[in-house]
Amino acid sequence: MKKLESFVEGNWITGDGEGQLLCDAVTGETIAAATTQGIDFKAMIEYAHTTGNPNLRKLTFHERGRMLRALAMHLRNHLEKFYSISYKTGATKADSWIDIEGGIGNLFSYASLRRKFADESFAVDGEGVNLSKHNTFMGHHILVPKEGVAIHINAFNFPVWGMLEKCAVNWLAGVPAIVKPATITSYLTEAVVKEIIASNILPKGALQLICGSVGDLLDHVTSQDVITFTGSKSTALKLKKHERILNESVPFNMEADSLNCIVLGDDVNPSDAEWDIFIKEIRKEITAKAGQKCTAIRRIFVPENKMDDVWKCLKQSLSQTVIGNPLNDKVRMGALAGQSQREEVKKQVQKLLASSQLIYGSLDSVEVLDADANKGAFLSPLLLMNEKPFASSVVHETEAFGPVSTIMPYKNLDEAIALSKLGKGSLCSTIVTAKDTIAKEYVLGAGTHHGRILVLNKDCAKESTGHGSPLPMLIHGGPGRAGGGEEMGGIRGVKHYMQRVAVQGSPTSITHITNIYQQYAKGIETNVHPFKKYFEELNIGDQIITPKRKITSEDINRFADLSGDHFYAHIAATDFNGTMFEQQVAHGYFIMSIAAGLFVGSYEKNPVLLNYGIDELRFTKPVYPGAEIYIKFTCKEKLPNDKRIINKPEDFKRGDDIEKGIVKWLVEMIDETNEQVGIATILTMVAKKK
Ligand code: NAP
Repeated sequence: MKKLESFVEGNWITGDGEGQLLCDAVTGETIAAATTQGIDFKAMIEYAHTTGNPNLRKLTFHERGRMLRALAMHLRNHLEKFYSISYKTGATKADSWIDIEGGIGNLFSYASLRRKFADESFAVDGEGVNLSKHNTFMGHHILVPKEGVAIHINAFNFPVWGMLEKCAVNWLAGVPAIVKPATITSYLTEAVVKEIIASNILPKGALQLICGSVGDLLDHVTSQDVITFTGSKSTALKLKKHERILNESVPFNMEADSLNCIVLGDDVNPSDAEWDIFIKEIRKEITAKAGQKCTAIRRIFVPENKMDDVWKCLKQSLSQTVIGNPLNDKVRMGALAGQSQREEVKKQVQKLLASSQLIYGSLDSVEVLDADANKGAFLSPLLLMNEKPFASSVVHETEAFGPVSTIMPYKNLDEAIALSKLGKGSLCSTIVTAKDTIAKEYVLGAGTHHGRILVLNKDCAKESTGHGSPLPMLIHGGPGRAGGGEEMGGIRGVKHYMQRVAVQGSPTSITHITNIYQQYAKGIETNVHPFKKYFEELNIGDQIITPKRKITSEDINRFADLSGDHFYAHIAATDFNGTMFEQQVAHGYFIMSIAAGLFVGSYEKNPVLLNYGIDELRFTKPVYPGAEIYIKFTCKEKLPNDKRIINKPEDFKRGDDIEKGIVKWLVEMIDETNEQVGIATILTMVAKKK
């Protein structure tokens, strides 16, 4: 019998003993055995701490991001192999796409996210805060990668996505991972990890894999580690209460059972486009991955006068689902992951049937194509109806982790909101309505109880990513029953693997630490105009102070004519009684424009390739004719700008061959009394010397 291997301390090893047998979900045949007996779990954690962590934390965000991109491209070359193994989990091609290519997509998304960070191993968080009257003392926040390991304990339903959606985030943060997939489908995770390791793209120690039980792993975690758990509430609670986790205050992110719901707005009628959108979304959620999705719709809330029409349409729609061998192209729903999962789902459905009735499907028989219904873990889609949803909590608390959903009536929107909350916290909820007033009331009323809410109507349905799809740039997680956790969410997720430190000191010290110029820090006088310096030659803090320019009423009149902005405050003849101003005031944009005139100061060609935009611009004091304005112009931040990947010659754009970076500049606009009248951060693209 083939034994699955675990990847431990840089080596592929098999555990001792016979292990747990893993079966093909479609044919019931044994595929492999999994055992971790004899594995030294303490050593795994130490190896991650002493090898993987230092190797990753020394890389910059941009290096880590490029590593993720290379890994994603590598894995894309092995899709066929992954798909062929994924069928054994009962997944159809479409299901496998979510798992495999969805997971790889996550790597790409997090790779691109590097651009949101400076090319540093740490990150600066938010804005600096001035803490003193004379501008000599301030505070800022920075994030440094934790010195531990991310331990991912995953559920059986997404053996690839479950790993990659989490690892993409901890790797970008500079932290290694130990992945423990659910044993039953770990043979697919093993195949993907084999390719990851073979690619040699990750530094040593960045990834270890456990195929089988975790033994005493959790006895050795430390406060620098992060545990993320996806699975059932009962396991989650057992692990969360682990003494070592409590003693060491180990962050424990929990994603557990979730009774997600969909609501049909009472504005929607059978002849509306939204009606079909609603029916289609439910069918998709019941049948995709045979309902084994943490985000699947378990509860369907419908205006009471539309119940009959809805369930007739749903029955009709579900009857078109071809169930069977996922290798057959006609099949739309495959098998559950295994016989034990099927038994568990049936058990949960029996609980639901105490207060609901079965209106579509059968618990005992299922018609399958190209497969043996007895050998494979097949189950028919099951639609239940509960006519008194406020009378029993079972339907709001019982998760049958398969193709099962219950339809329930509501009287008005307040009731729909109240019913959605009876799930006591879910990952996601959808409202289908053409009326944004209904959508707003639902989102604001139900928002406290759901991690994500999809507002679905004909305007967005075609391009909608759907109720059940967690997305890398949006948070995935939910309050209460859903575990109270948060994953992904763009840079929000990265921060879970980093320690936030508040740093206090002088603006000059904080500039040095963050490598971002802070207002009031000492500037670096430079004889060479900073626009004459190449990207590599620029220092953070390089500063020029320009000569003064006197503002005249004629200037303001000319700017008003040129721009067409004849706002009354810029017109000398205006009666200024009752206004915010004493007399004709200069346009803020005029001051910004003369600022550019003062700091650019040269007609010669120089390494600045173009002006890229303005990040922040504030006008802080009115400028009247006679004021004399000068500019303090300081190099604030340098960001690398990766070359675009050009696949075809026709994709080449002018400038693609120039090596360059982005430079942010602080522009302080100051008058003759040395008071600030405006402030801006401008961006330029600057050529590199090499
Ligand atoms: P599970 O039985 O709770 O197992 C989850 C993970 O925990 C598996 O890797 C399992 O490993 C491991 N585990 C079990 N006992 C453990 C222990 N004592 N110490 C350490 N690890 C242990 O859940 P499942 O059956 O895989 O998944 C189905 C459930 O997951 C459903 O209830 C579903 O709601 C939930 N789920 C939630 C989300 C979400 O994001 N909220 C996503 C997917 C699934 P073994 O396989 O080796 O036992």
